[in-house]
Amino acid sequence: MTPKEIIVPESHNYIAAFLTLGCNLTCSYCINHFGSTGPGARLLSGPEWVTGLNRIVTREDLPITLQGGEPTIHKDCIYIINNLKPEINVDLLTNLQFDIDRFMGEVSPDRIKRDAPYASIRVSYHPEVMELKPLMENVLRLQNGGYSIGIWGVMHPSQSVEIEKAQKECIAAGIDFRQKEFLGECEGRMYGTFRYDGACDKKEKKSVQCMTTELIIGPEGGVYRCHSDLYEGRTPVGSILDPEFQIEEIYRPCDYFGHCNPCDVKIKTNRFQQFGHTSVEIKIP
Ligand code: SF4
Ligand code: SF4
Repeated sequence: MTPKEIIVPESHNYIAAFLTLGCNLTCSYCINHFGSTGPGARLLSGPEWVTGLNRIVTREDLPITLQGGEPTIHKDCIYIINNLKPEINVDLLTNLQFDIDRFMGEVSPDRIKRDAPYASIRVSYHPEVMELKPLMENVLRLQNGGYSIGIWGVMHPSQSVEIEKAQKECIAAGIDFRQKEFLGECEGRMYGTFRYDGACDKKEKKSVQCMTTELIIGPEGGVYRCHSDLYEGRTPVGSILDPEFQIEEIYRPCDYFGHCNPCDVKIKTNRFQQFGHTSVEIKIP
């Protein structure tokens, strides 16, 4: 049976394919440690990812973002990038701890490039576990090779000084370096601006109705209501391997409000540059 196309609705702002939740680094503040789903769950193979993702019909300004964990530790990451249909734009979120020569030899710069106000390969810089100089050298190699690439530094309170310093150095070297807001708790204080009071404080579990504007696909092909569901290993609402799977723009009942992930309820700017958007809409009784 030929799997049905998955048409991404106009309302959707993000498509994430989490190739793995595993990583080759160990940042102390990693959001992948938020929940209980660790690496070790079944991973889709490269051909399975390609079959599932190639069903997606999306807009030019809405790429599929390959992320994780660290997506490049999936053994078929390059295969996936090279076998997605050309009309699908691809972005890559990575810590760049991979074989740059192999990547440049096998992936054309045009495969990960599009007209957008930010780079398609978005490198995360983690001063706690990474050296800046070699990272800059690798970014410049890719940049000079024609790849759309930039570095992002998370403004975690423990490393904001390092990030500011690195940003100055990178900009002076001609590298696009941006700061990313830290979301979550650090030393008893919650960082981030959230739309719904109590959504992330983990005090109680409330029953609500919730609707998402993101297509979140986990390492085993499951489609999740939100990042919290993915990281906590809750039952997905569908699978990209189910030939009948379609995105439904509906409110779903959820009994975990209070344990939402900051990514889902953070107030941000949407693709129309309107501030006040959140990835999920929640009806709280
Ligand atoms: S590089 Fe990213 S995914 Fe890996 S441990 Fe650090 S924060 Fe987590
Ligand atoms: S209420 Fe929170 S935990 Fe429940 S689906 Fe929505 S974002 Fe996820």
